[in-house]
Formats: sequence, C-alpha cells, structure tokens
Amino acid sequence: MNFPPFKYTAAERFLHYVTIDTQSDPTSPTTPSTEKQKNLGKILVQELLDMGISDAHMDEHCYVYATLPSNSDKEVPVICFCSHMDTSPDCSGENVKPIVHKSYAGDKIVLPLDPAQVLTVADHPALADQIGNDIITASGDTLLGADNKAGLAEIMDAVYQLINHPEIKHGDIRILFTPDEEIGRGVDKVDMKKLGAKFGYTMDGETLGHVEDENFNAKSAVINITGVSAHPGFAKGKMENAIKIQQAILQALPIHTLSPETTDGKQPFIHPTAVKGNLENAELSFILRSFTREEMDRLEDILEAICVRVNKDFPNSKLEVIFKEQYRNMKEKLDEFPQVVDYAMEAVTRAGVTPIRTSIRGGTDGSRLSFMGLPCPNIFAGEHAFHSKQEWVSIQDMERAVDTIVHLAVIWEEKS
Ligand SMILES: [Zn+2]
Repeated sequence: MNFPPFKYTAAERFLHYVTIDTQSDPTSPTTPSTEKQKNLGKILVQELLDMGISDAHMDEHCYVYATLPSNSDKEVPVICFCSHMDTSPDCSGENVKPIVHKSYAGDKIVLPLDPAQVLTVADHPALADQIGNDIITASGDTLLGADNKAGLAEIMDAVYQLINHPEIKHGDIRILFTPDEEIGRGVDKVDMKKLGAKFGYTMDGETLGHVEDENFNAKSAVINITGVSAHPGFAKGKMENAIKIQQAILQALPIHTLSPETTDGKQPFIHPTAVKGNLENAELSFILRSFTREEMDRLEDILEAICVRVNKDFPNSKLEVIFKEQYRNMKEKLDEFPQVVDYAMEAVTRAGVTPIRTSIRGGTDGSRLSFMGLPCPNIFAGEHAFHSKQEWVSIQDMERAVDTIVHLAVIWEEKS
C-alpha cells in the first residue's frame, strides 16, 4: 500500500534526545550503569503516554516498554522494535550541541568548537551519497549520539505515524528501549516474558538500506600464568618470570593475519586487550571473534597451542587458558525463521531504498536477544562514524528508516 505523505517528527525528536547525556560506564556494577540514562527514559515514556500509548513505562533497571495495540482483525505475531538509550564511554556525550547542515553540497564540514574536527568525503566516503540531504553533526567537542538516538527517534516517529494513520493496519507492536548496550549489558535485565514478542528488530545499523543478519561469534580468553619466583641474586636455573612468559605468548601471536588491524569482512581475529602481572603471577586478556563456530574452534586451538609451546621453555610454570562465551552469531537463529529478514528486506524496498543484506563485525542487543528467544536482525538507523566527535546522520536517512518500520508493521499484518 502507499501511505499518505508523512509529516515526519524524527529529526525534531532526535535533536532533543541528543542533548540528554546518557553515557554508560563499564566500571559501574549497577543497572543502569549511570542514573542519568533514566533522564532520557522518562522523556521517552512521557512522549509515548502523550501519544496515547497507555502502558508505556520504565522499570527500575531503566528499560522502557510500551505497546502500540493491534488495529487488525487478523492474528498477527507481536513484533518488537528496539534501540538503546546509552552512548559510548569512548567519547564525551555531555552537553551535545547538534548542528543541522542543510542541503549538503559535498564540501568539507568543519565543526566549530574544534576546527581540527573536519568531515570530508575522503574520510567519510558515505557522505558522497548524501548530496542535497540535511546532515546532523555535533559541534566538535562531543560525540553526536546518533548511535543509537537515531534509532529511538525513528521508532518514536513510526509509532506516531501509525497512531495518526489508523487506516494503516498492523498487529501489536512492542517497543523496547534499553540502557547500557555500549558496555555489552544492553539486554541483561530484559524481562522476556513481559516483552512477550515473537520477533524483533534493532534499529541500530549504519548505512541506508542495510539489513544485518549476521554478527561475530564472540569469546573472551584469559591466560593465567603462574611463574616460579626466586631471589634475583640466587635465581640461576630456578626462576621462571611470569612477565617474560607473557611476553613470549604475545610474541607468538600471528602478526600479519588474525588481528583487528589486518582483517575485515568475515575474517576472524585474536586480539590481546590487557596485560597484568608481576614476577610470579601474570594475566593476559583476549577477545576472539569469528563468524563461524569452526573458526572459533581454530582460534581457541591457536591460543592453546601457543601456550603449550611457550610452556616448554618455562617447564615449571603453569599456564591456564579460560574461554568464556560473550555472544553468538544471530544467523544461527535467524535461519530458522527466514521470514524475519525477508520481510525487513521487503520493507526497505517498499521504502524506496535498495536493500543490502550484510554482516556486522561486532554484536548488537539483537544478537543476544536472538538467543534469548527473540530472533532479531539489525536494520539501518543511518548513524555513521559512531563513538567519535565526527559522528553524523542525515535527516533523509532517518526518514527512510521510519518508512521501513511502518512498512514492516504492514507486511507482518499482510502476510498473517
Ligand atoms: Zn549502537
């Protein structure tokens, strides 16, 4: 079906949301990791209530739940749209001052509060597709927060359009806004029963038209090293220095392959993230990333083999590797319900955009939700250069994301 022309609200909402500081904090043990995330949660709940969504509320852990009730006679599966409220701890999100650069002409964009922050097509090739569009950036001293406030604004606008156009038929639409995604805890406290959705979509992807149905398998690894200490003056033939064992392991890692700095696409890597230690005890932390289970097994084998080899040179020391799963490739789950991604591709097409099915070298709330019983691919929100002062999004891309959400709601109703 064709919609009447929408009077979009996404940009206006977005420009408001980014002014609320919602930076999350990986060192905090609480949920939410920072209380200030609730300031945005409260605004979102109020806006939903004002639209007439009567069950909108935020729980004590800063999760926002709401339902746009079905207006269809059909039995339509409950679909959830999800975005996260926090911004990355990597870059300040305090006092964000967004700027709208109208009708972008392809020139460089200099951010006024730090003239060293310049956006060029050379550095941001995706800007080449934005000629004539309205680009939003921060002012040079903070990130923008399009990751993931673009997603919030798009979902809110889509709900607004559906409410104002009751002739558009849809099933129950569940809304979920999460805290702490950027620190890997976005879905820790989701109440799946309360959510009660059958399928979901995170609106947290980058480029216009992208539908991401694959992500990394992710594990962490810690190597605990117990060396042999002795008085340095009388250590000959006895001492085995844990710091040197650590160094030997690091030197044995592949340099030209299997590292973040030498891989892209679907290539896997082993990546040391922290070292800690003294003469007797040392610890090495890693993250392992791959798209297939077989590759993950191979990465584990490589790390274990390095330990065995190094241990031969330090025979009285103890090396122990502990692997821990972080998240898994959602494709495993999405393949069981191919319609979830197919409908998303169809919705992008109906929004007048060429859909591109692709993968993410990372994880999303959706990758974990997929294994918690809610198959959940990721759809573009239009955010670019996220976690940086040069982050940007275009108003037109956000509006195509709004259209995509509305079309998805329609497609699920149509096909039910
Ligand atoms: Zn995000």
